[in-house]
Amino acid sequence: MNILAVGAHPDDIECFCSGTLLRYRAAGHRIFLALTTSGNAGSNVIPTTAEVAATREAEQLVAARGYDAEVRFLRFDDQGLHDTPQTRRAVRSAIRWANPDVILTNPPWDMSTDHAVTGKLVADLMLSLGGNLHPSDVPPITKAPSLFFWDIAAGLRFDPEAYVDISEHAEQKASLINTHVSQRAWMGEFFEDDFAEASMVLSRLRGLQSGTRYAEGFVGYQIQGFVADYRLLP
Ligand SMILES: [Zn+2]
Repeated sequence: MNILAVGAHPDDIECFCSGTLLRYRAAGHRIFLALTTSGNAGSNVIPTTAEVAATREAEQLVAARGYDAEVRFLRFDDQGLHDTPQTRRAVRSAIRWANPDVILTNPPWDMSTDHAVTGKLVADLMLSLGGNLHPSDVPPITKAPSLFFWDIAAGLRFDPEAYVDISEHAEQKASLINTHVSQRAWMGEFFEDDFAEASMVLSRLRGLQSGTRYAEGFVGYQIQGFVADYRLLP
């Protein structure tokens, strides 16, 4: 299968679904990553947005090697992502580029604005992937992918419907999160807890809930005719 993860910022994918991607990869599936923003406002140390974007994209590419993933950067502004004809075209093109069987993305009810808009865009575009008349840089696809929303930081207002046991990949997940060196420093200015540790606490909580050591939780997208196939999760 082709598996596509669509994140709002470099680090979202590693924090919320990297264990699941590692399981897909171990089973021989192909991994694609798309980033709606390059997190270009995410530093008080690096002087310009262009340099922050370049730093964070480089970090994302290092993380992507963990799953042998192909990466597509859409490069909209950090904290400035909106639902517009331009963002719709770019996200639609990214989904078609990956020709996915499964899509993982931020939940639209996340209070982080870029997370919410990313999840909303992906969900809203699900019914337009096969249509010739929808603006896109990539031809329509014939698959009807299953879409799953990943967790929210600290597990706030997120009740998983499905859990993926990532116990065998927990160490690798922590090391992939730590490839986002600049973000770890930036988050360290706001939060008491270490960036990677906070994500692993959440994975441990989802493991506790599901009877495993470490897990990642998901909620399926459901609309008539396009209910996510939960059997496609690893
Ligand atoms: Zn984020």
